[in-house]
Amino acid sequence: MKIFATEYLLIDLESEKWHCRRCNHDLGSARENYKFGLLVHERDPREIHAPILDEAYEFTFAPDPDWVRIIEYYCPECGTMMEVEYLPPGHPLTRDIHLDIDALKLQWATREELKAPILGPDTVWERKHHHH
Ligand SMILES: [Zn+2]
Repeated sequence: MKIFATEYLLIDLESEKWHCRRCNHDLGSARENYKFGLLVHERDPREIHAPILDEAYEFTFAPDPDWVRIIEYYCPECGTMMEVEYLPPGHPLTRDIHLDIDALKLQWATREELKAPILGPDTVWERKHHHH
């Protein structure tokens, strides 16, 4: 069974793997950081945030690349951008999703696989108790 984790990520509970929601590419163990399975591009922040002021000024509106980099993450199969974060140069990749896979397996053992994510107040629990 595959469950929706984010707009771009699925988890296959049998194989315990992350998958791309767009192309189903295997992105590695769901017990590890999904970012390890993605392509990483370190971008100079001046490419995204224009300086606006000219070079006569020591400081502009562009972030200083000595202090911050824009880290972009892409699916290695279909190229979908999955995440972007701002980090100091040399900072390790952050881990923003750390799920208890064993608890998820228990939780979904009695549920049916969803065809599409459920958003808002219509949770899986609500559906189970009000519509069946
Ligand atoms: Zn993909």
